[in-house]
Amino acid sequence: MIRILPVLAFPLHVKLRLPSNVIAAFNRTFLALLRLKSDTKNDFEILLGKTSAALYHEKVIDHYENPRNIGSLNKDSPNVGTGLVGAPACGDVMKLQIEVDDDGSVIVIMLELEGCAQTYAWGKQGLESSVAQLISTYLGKKISGDTPYAELWMGIHPSGPSRIRGTEQLLSEWIISHPESLGHKTRDVFGDNLPFLLKVLSVNKALSIQAHPNKFHAEQLHAERPDLYKDPNHKPELAVAVTKFEALCGFKTFSEIAKYLNDIPELREAIGKEELVQAFLNSAGDESHIREALRNLFEGLMINDNVRDPLQKLMLRIDSNKDDPAYSLCKRLMEWFPDDVGCFGPFLFNYIVLEPGEALFLGPNEPHAYIQGDCVECMACSDNVVRAGLTPKYKDVPTLVSMLSYQLRSAKEVKMAVETTTCPGTGATICRYVPPVKDFLVERYTVR
Ligand SMILES: [Zn+2]
Repeated sequence: MIRILPVLAFPLHVKLRLPSNVIAAFNRTFLALLRLKSDTKNDFEILLGKTSAALYHEKVIDHYENPRNIGSLNKDSPNVGTGLVGAPACGDVMKLQIEVDDDGSVIVIMLELEGCAQTYAWGKQGLESSVAQLISTYLGKKISGDTPYAELWMGIHPSGPSRIRGTEQLLSEWIISHPESLGHKTRDVFGDNLPFLLKVLSVNKALSIQAHPNKFHAEQLHAERPDLYKDPNHKPELAVAVTKFEALCGFKTFSEIAKYLNDIPELREAIGKEELVQAFLNSAGDESHIREALRNLFEGLMINDNVRDPLQKLMLRIDSNKDDPAYSLCKRLMEWFPDDVGCFGPFLFNYIVLEPGEALFLGPNEPHAYIQGDCVECMACSDNVVRAGLTPKYKDVPTLVSMLSYQLRSAKEVKMAVETTTCPGTGATICRYVPPVKDFLVERYTVR
């Protein structure tokens, strides 16, 4: 992987300090680059430093004025070589890094991507959105103050494909012609496809109550309703908070749900059938009965498309419980989505507040709804979402009700474990978020 690729006016190859296992590959590659970049014999001599090293070659100046292949590799990695030339004291420094595989071949040239911004209604507006800030600062995009910039996608999904920056070429096309860039471990499992999609989300108001199908179910849904379920892939997803980030995730414990059923007659009214409530309350102690009763109760609630009366009654007394975050969130949801049955969500689902750096993993068939904040999200390359509530989009209640796993757990079981290490020498902190799927993992580097 080459991330910094200036064509140098110095005989850099004699000044390199490289691990022995990469030096041969480095020299071979660097000389090949020199030949590649040299248009004339004269250029070649300049590049090899046979003329004054005090003058920068025009190609160095071009890289300075039009930066590309920018970034930094982990210099402590045994497969990374670093070449540095110049005088740091006067800022006159050029650096070249490569990463090679175990055979000594350069893995890939690092390319900058132009991601795809999605403007969904729930996004933060204008430059308040992290997405807008990113595409304005790094891609020079013009930002409209009244547009909600919700998501920035980086990957090959056809609903928002990335391009190689500065070209019209899609990342998916580039990968087809450079499949070796995926690495053999990825190709063995996923073929010649990038298996993941990386996003930045900037959430101003709640997303839908949703879940994502497993792989088998996704194939079925896509075959039956390709207009609604756009691809045949599963969509496990992992959200790492960038700011304080609120979400609903998974069903609460039995005792918590039972408490709200007892305390909130408006919730029982919205469920409609008192026998569903009693069946749930009487199922205590038997896990399979609890799940079945919860499924029936949840279905009774979600198929009710007229919950205006119970919500309005609840609104009248909601401030008397404002110290309970579930009631406060219910009130916020009612302001965003009046009359929506999803406003009862906080009484059934865990309310999670992530601090920056904390993460959630959402496996298949797990109900969730992001509420507010910014996050980086990584997922299998899919856009399959089954929705039921808190959305003007199509709600597929029967599918959602039938697919959920109805696992009950406490809020503190929902947050994801993070492995943290410190990189020797640099002091950089590396946080690893390792989900129970092969499609991706996320690392977060904090550089001092
Ligand atoms: Zn989701």
